[in-house]
Formats: sequence, structure tokens, C-alpha cells
Amino acid sequence: MKVGILGGGQLGRMLALAGLPLGLRFVVLDPAANAPVGQLAKHVLADYDDDAALAELARSDVCTYEFESVPEAAARAIQSTTPVHPTPEALRIAQDRLNEKLCFRELGIPTPAFEAVDSEHELRAAIAKMGLPAVLKTRRHGYDGKGQFLLRETGDIASAWLELGGVPLILEGFVRFERELSVLSVRGLDGATAFYPLVENHHEQGMLRFSRTPVPALAPEQQKRAESYAVRLLDHMGYVGVLALELFEAGGQLLANEMAPRVHNSGHLTIEGARTSQFENHLRAILGLPLGDTSVPEPVAMLNLVGGLPRREDMLAVPDAHLHFYAKQPRPGRKVGHVTVRAPDAATLDERVARLEAIIASD
Ligand code: AMP
Repeated sequence: MKVGILGGGQLGRMLALAGLPLGLRFVVLDPAANAPVGQLAKHVLADYDDDAALAELARSDVCTYEFESVPEAAARAIQSTTPVHPTPEALRIAQDRLNEKLCFRELGIPTPAFEAVDSEHELRAAIAKMGLPAVLKTRRHGYDGKGQFLLRETGDIASAWLELGGVPLILEGFVRFERELSVLSVRGLDGATAFYPLVENHHEQGMLRFSRTPVPALAPEQQKRAESYAVRLLDHMGYVGVLALELFEAGGQLLANEMAPRVHNSGHLTIEGARTSQFENHLRAILGLPLGDTSVPEPVAMLNLVGGLPRREDMLAVPDAHLHFYAKQPRPGRKVGHVTVRAPDAATLDERVARLEAIIASD
């Protein structure tokens, strides 16, 4: 069986690593010559609007995508001859923060307050309604905290507009959340669903740095609540594959921040932490295979390696630590790998995480 992937970044790389033992072959379309998927797949080096390249991908048994900025048109072009999962409709929704929030609202999934903003006048009107602080975001092409401006006082309006204005925007109420969580869900071709345990996520400057599960002192109803939101999205879109939903936990509520129609950074800890990784389950889903067990037998955490790679020997000296280097050239602010660590109990996990943090900080 051959799987086509739009995008050959680290997510494509980890999909290929999960699929090779299942006897799968991969063909990847990515415009970057040094895409991390490297030797693990046949790399079609072309732009996403290259007809011949899209036709080559369409000669796979099934196609998927590994980052949500893939042009919807590329996925739709392949879909005219070959199944594409998740549905390109998920790209259309997730690529626009306004569409995404409207979709959440339509499905009864709570969100932060939000308003579409297309002019400075509309920005002032939205702030008058919503109050400050508030977060102004570009509707499209924002990721890892890029394309965002935190407005604290009315004096910030002019500079926020100067920085982001001119493209469609969304203003969101600033949520004083207790913590950020995500739920990874998967839906098979037959409609069967499975959910990973909620993951707690820590961001710095909008970029994920640290994830762990189980979430400490989590009220038991939150898992069910998160799953009920995820299942509404899965069913609404007729979705097949892994879907990530990012949530703010605030005052006992879960507010949907955004979704990612793909495998997700907060699910990397499932590689060693879960009975079946998010990558394997995504492949099982899109190929119509039975979904694997999503349970996580013991506490697990993941730290992203951003900007540089600490020494392997230092990190691997921490018990039950597991390294993933993405074959990316280190650059400030660039995710170049991650390390996962497991432990028999929460206190031991905290100790191991502290050791890894110290190694990463001293690098
Ligand atoms: P996003 O790209 O929308 O996921 O935003 C990146 C990060 O910025 C989130 O993970 C939060 O830490 C923070 N953030 C985004 N939107 C809000 C909001 N409405 N209120 C508070 N923090 C936010």
C-alpha cells in the first residue's frame, strides 16, 4: 500500500516512521529540498500547485496532509481521483480562524468571545463590545503565535492595527485560563472513534514547549466533555484520521481555541507513551484498518527541542527518555526535535522532566 502525504516536515517523517513497520510506502510532496521526511519516503520536490506532482501523489492508494497550510485546492485536486483523508473540508475550516470559531459555535462548543475585524473602525467597535485585554489575530496563516497582537489598553489599538491590519482579522477576548489542554481524537473509515487522554500543554511566545499526561488534578468530567466536543467535530465533517482540539481550561469550563486537522505536536508523547501512537492511528484510520488502543499506561511528558539539539548522551542518561531529532538545520525559534520521558509515577516524572529541562537550558 502506498500513502501520499502533502507536506514532508517532521509530522510527515513521524507518519512514515510509524507506517514502515505496517508495510506501507510513502510518497511526499514538499517544495523544500531538505524536507525532514528525507530518505523515508519518495520525495516529489515541487510546489503544491504543480499538476504533475499532484498527479504523482494521486497514484497512491490514499492521500493525507501533515500541515494545515497546505492549499485546499491541492487536496481537492487529488481527491478527484484518489481518497483524501481527512476531508479537504477540514482544511477549509481550520485555515480560517473565523470559520473555525463559527463552526465551534454552530456545534455548541464553547469558545472565547470573538468578532470578525476588517477595519480599524471595526476593531474599535469590537473592543468597545468585548473589553480589554483582547487578542487580535490574522484569520489565516497564523501558527505558533505568529500573526497575533495582545491588546492591553486602548493606546495599543493603533500599533496593533499597524502591525496586523490590511488582512482579515479576528478579535478574541483574552482568556485568563488556568491551563491549556488538548484532546487528540481519531475516527476510522467506518465511523469508529477513539480518544487519547487529555494532555496539558505549556507554550512560550505562542509555541508549544512542554506537554504531559495525565493532567494533574483533572476533574473527571473534563475528559468526557472534551471527547463530546471532539466527536461533534468529527461527525460534522465526516472526518477520518487524527484531529487535535486545543482547549483553554477556565473556571471549570473548556473553551475551544483551535483545531488542527492532522497529527499534532501535543500528541508526540503518544509515540512511547500510548499503546498506539497518534501517527499509527492516523494511518490505521485513513487505510480503513481497526483503530489501536489509545490508552496511556503510565505518566509521560514531552519537551520540544527548539533552536538547538542538546547532546544525545546527556538526555539519554535520564531514565526512560527517548529522543527524536527531525533532521532540520537548527535555527533560533525552530522546532528541531523533541524528547519524551516516561515514569512509574508523577513525582518521578517531575524529577526526570526537571533534569531534561536543565540539560536543555544549559545547551
Ligand atoms: P493560537 O495560535 O491561537 O493557538 O495561540 C497561541 C497561544 O497564544 C495559545 O496557545 C495561548 O497560549 C495564547 N492565546 C491565544 N488566544 C488566546 C486567548 N484568546 N486568550 C488567552 N491566550 C490566548
